[in-house]
This record gives sequence, C-alpha cells and structure tokens, in this order.
Amino acid sequence: MLDPWIDAYAERTHGLTVSAVRALFSVANRPEVVSLAGGMPNIADLPREAIGEAMASLIRDRGTQAMQYGSGQGEPFMREQITEVMAEEGIAAHPDDLVVSCGSQQALDLVTRVFCDPGDVILAEAPSYVGAIGTFRAYQVQIVQVAMDDRGIVPQALREAIAACRAVGKRVKFLYTIPNFQNPTGVTQTVERRQELIEAAHELDILIVEDNPYGLLAIEGEPKPALRSMDDSRVVYLGSFSKTFAPGFRIGWALAPHAVREKLTLAQESATLAPPVFSQFAISTYLHQFDWRGQIQVYRDMYRARRDAMLQGLTENMPEGTTWTHPTGGFFVWVTLPEGLDSQAMLPRAVSARVAYVPGTAFFADGLGSRNMRLSFCFPPPERIIEGTRRLGEVLRDEIDTLRTFGIGSGSGGHLYRDITSGPAPDIT
Ligand code: PMP
Repeated sequence: MLDPWIDAYAERTHGLTVSAVRALFSVANRPEVVSLAGGMPNIADLPREAIGEAMASLIRDRGTQAMQYGSGQGEPFMREQITEVMAEEGIAAHPDDLVVSCGSQQALDLVTRVFCDPGDVILAEAPSYVGAIGTFRAYQVQIVQVAMDDRGIVPQALREAIAACRAVGKRVKFLYTIPNFQNPTGVTQTVERRQELIEAAHELDILIVEDNPYGLLAIEGEPKPALRSMDDSRVVYLGSFSKTFAPGFRIGWALAPHAVREKLTLAQESATLAPPVFSQFAISTYLHQFDWRGQIQVYRDMYRARRDAMLQGLTENMPEGTTWTHPTGGFFVWVTLPEGLDSQAMLPRAVSARVAYVPGTAFFADGLGSRNMRLSFCFPPPERIIEGTRRLGEVLRDEIDTLRTFGIGSGSGGHLYRDITSGPAPDIT
C-alpha cells in the first residue's frame, strides 16, 4: 500500500532504510537454522529464581520509589555503583560525570545528538557496529570509516582521513571506536595502538567516543586499559549492563568530561525525562545482593567454550583461502572469504542450507564488505556452532564450484531472499 505520509516525513528519515537482510532473518530464526547471525547475550545461566524473589521484595518494600519518576541524569545510587563496575577496568570516575541511559545505544544517540549537525563527519572503524551506523545515519552524519588491522585502527589512516575531511571543509566531530572485542571483527586494540590514538586525538583536536560493552567479557589474556583510563579530557566512555548482566533492563551509561555530561543530561531529559527508574533499582539490587563478579566469570567460561567451538569448527570446515579473526573475548568472529565470493548474494543459499550469518556489507556505510561475514558464537551451544560451520563450509564449497564452472558466484539461488517481504526485526546487534 502506498504510504499517504510519504511527503511528510523529515529528511532525516531518508537515511533509515530497511535492510534487505531483515527479511531473511524471519527465516533464519527458525529452530532448524543454526543462527550464527544474532548478537543476543546468552543469559540462560542467570539465577532467575533468586533474581525473581529479589525483584518481588523490591516492589513490595520500595515500590513507591522504584516505580516513580526519577532523575534525568540517573539515580545517584546507580551512578555510584557504575563507578564500582568501571573500576574493574581501571577507570577512576566520579558519579557526577555519569549519565545513565536506556542501554549504551541510547547513550550513543545522545552523544550524536549533542555533537552532530547534518553533514558533519564521524570517523569509525572499517567495519563498525551496525547499530552505530544506523544512529549516525539518523542524524544525517557522514560516516568515514578508517582502515583497521588485527591491532585496531591504523593511526596513519586516521590522520589521513581527518586531513582529507578538513581539506574539503568538513567538520570531524568524533572518532567512534570499540577497542575491546570489536563488533563485528572481534579485534582488540593493542596498548600501543591505544596510546597512538590518544596522541593523534590530542594533536588533531578530536573527541573519542569509546564504546565498551564487551570489555569485561575477556575470555583470554589480561584486559587492556580503557582509552578513558588514559585520558579523561577527550574521551566519552559508553558502558552497558547488557552483556555483563542482562540486556532487557536496558541500562547503560556515558561517562563524559563535565561540560559534555551537562549537555548529555539535558538531552536525556528532553528524550526521556529520566532513564528507566525501575531498571536502575533492579540492577542496583542485583549488584548489592548477588555475586555479579562471579556471574561475569560464569559468562566468560560459557563464551570461551563457544568461541573455542567456533574456531575449531572453522578450522575443520572452511575451504582453503578463507581466513578469520581469533577473538580473545566478546561475541564475534570476522571471516574473509576467498576472492570472487559474495556473502550477501550467498545468504539465501546459506539459509536454505540451514545456517545464517550477517553479511559484511551491513557493517560498512558504503557497500564494502561483500567478501566478509560476521559469525557470532554467543548464543548457540558449542555442538550447534560446529554444525553451523559444517553447513557453512558446504555452502562455500558449492559457491566455489559454481564460481569455477560459470565464472560467477551463485547468489541466484536466491528464491528465499526475494520471496520474503516482511518479518520481525533482525537480531543482528
Ligand atoms: N555497542 C556495541 C558495540 C554493541 O555491540 C551493542 C549491542 N550489541 C551496543 C552498543 C548496544 O548495547 P546496549 O544498548 O544493549 O547497551
């Protein structure tokens, strides 16, 4: 049906496109499909019964406060406790420099709202988090993606990108980066790279937005210092309880230099009046009454087993010429396919073979990434992950055969892709 409001929508909605991939995910979510696409945290191991009892007492004993409006900046007790969580990553912060948000996603929205006019530039890794690209687009920002390697953003590429933007009169507002177990590549910035980024930011006078939802989910090696712990004057740090506890409470935060924090609070008030008060009481109760550090260790062990299964499955099943990253934490592995293959064109065929992934193009603002795919190891159990890589290996071998025989990849096994026109929102966060 034709949309009667088509001429009425604001220009900023023009960048909001429904991804072609979305349609496919209604099929990918069927139980027979091994989905290596979704980024959903696996929260099955939470002590749900005990949490339920704590929530019941919360409502009974403190419900009139917990279910009331609250502070636009976030409840003082919550901000105090968030500083304790950040101390685990070596960040010393004052509760007054924090704004609580509806997930770190909303903190990212607020930062973009506060800094960016249409046409401004945000720098990000190439590739970068699909949800961030969506937010930046909603503010009509130009996204310039900077080359990264297996140690993070390449500082020289960052300098060149900034110089190129400035040469044509563009205003670069900030660098958005995910230093730990990056979504989608799983890459972690080395300490030297972090220092180089901070130096470049000083020299070139740009702000850094450090998005760190996975930092406490290291499954190998020592955690690296947060950028914010190296510089508190030009880093806005975004954190979240979504991966260390549970995403449904939708509580995240921004830690920002004081003046920026004031702007973020005003923006938060205009967006929501106050971030979810009940969720803050709930999370605060959880942090007080439960062994949250122990729970993070449980998560780490569970994700390590899944990461190991993914790497084992890839080693056993990927055809020659395929390469992938070796994440030391987080949820994701980034795969590079042999030349000539196209992960987006191939997706319908993969879903027919009962395995799903996110094509690399989702993580670029400019259509790059067709030889890449993001595989997540966070959700399916280890044996399903291995089965998923086996199915994927078969699809890839078929594609390579087609390529050799006909000289083109067979994205045309795409009946599923074309037939489906609607479906629930994809879980590709
Ligand atoms: N940043 C990154 C890199 C993410 O992967 C996600 C969610 N997958 C978010 C931010 C948003 O997380 P939340 O809003 O649940 O805190």
